[in-house]
Amino acid sequence: MPKAARKQQKNLIQNIAVQRMWRLFELAKAEFPENPERSRHYVRLIRNISMRNRISIPREIKSRICKHCYSFLVPGSNARYRLKDGYIVISCEQCGKEMRYPYKRLR
Ligand SMILES: [Zn+2]
Repeated sequence: MPKAARKQQKNLIQNIAVQRMWRLFELAKAEFPENPERSRHYVRLIRNISMRNRISIPREIKSRICKHCYSFLVPGSNARYRLKDGYIVISCEQCGKEMRYPYKRLR
């Protein structure tokens, strides 16, 4: 296969993987109020896709899931968001751990 075509195919696979992550994210969001365990399962699948395809999770998704316990995070419900030194610090009240991401990159 020519090099350009191979690259194109790789992009295609990555696009599909990202789309799948968004779909799982929507499912996790929909399931969270009624069925938090199932939403956690969807979050775990998002992580799996990211690792298997070696692509990063879109930042909008990343800021709504706990990378420690895979909880779907809802501000004011099971998570706290605050800004500190240009970072957004997310506290997961499910497992008590914190994550921090550079604020600008989270929009
Ligand atoms: Zn957590």
